[in-house]
Amino acid sequence: LFIAFEGGDGAGKSTQAALLTQAMSDAGRTVLRTREPGGTPVGEKLRSLVLEHGQGEIDAKTEALIFAAARAAHAAQVITPAVARGEIVVSDRYADSSIAYQGAGRGLGTEAIVKLNDWATNSLWPDLTVLLDVSPAQGRDRRTAGDAAEDRMESEPDDFHATIRAAFLALAHANPERYLVLPAENSIAELAQAIHERVTTLLGS
Ligand code: C5P
Repeated sequence: LFIAFEGGDGAGKSTQAALLTQAMSDAGRTVLRTREPGGTPVGEKLRSLVLEHGQGEIDAKTEALIFAAARAAHAAQVITPAVARGEIVVSDRYADSSIAYQGAGRGLGTEAIVKLNDWATNSLWPDLTVLLDVSPAQGRDRRTAGDAAEDRMESEPDDFHATIRAAFLALAHANPERYLVLPAENSIAELAQAIHERVTTLLGS
């Protein structure tokens, strides 16, 4: 089973990915928790590359191809083998982030990014995508409350984040069977419970 967490910066994806991983491990399942961009040694290098360079240095298509390259490695070397072993894979972000950030945010168009990623991953799409829907204002508050310095994307203006949010919601609307959309302002415990319920249903246990 392959589960991806998606949502804007500051939505709480990492927190929920960690809680789900813990709950599933406690239930005796083997869980592989991973993240994008990253997930493989090459992917982590590509992550640093793309996050370190400013928008002036990396144009939109280059950025989309770097994310897709990292994802191709991640899908082939990590996710597909783990799913084949019967493990649960929990990924913090996946291809829908590229559709939202590079397709909508950077204006490359969602169609092109869907095709690129379908090719890069041999059509590996999640069984479940959990969208933590966050408003630009709340995302900003949470990011600035954290200790970490804002990265290149996070310092984008609110309207960029509004575009990302709308793109994720459109994806959820277009793929209702694989999406679980939850308001990021719900409590951590409430969110964890709703996610756990959906995963348990999917596992049929
Ligand atoms: O989720 P995380 O903070 O690790 O993501 C790193 C950054 O990369 C974020 O600021 C996110 O906005 C950006 N990103 C992106 N395009 C993707 C995936 C992530 O611009 N496809």
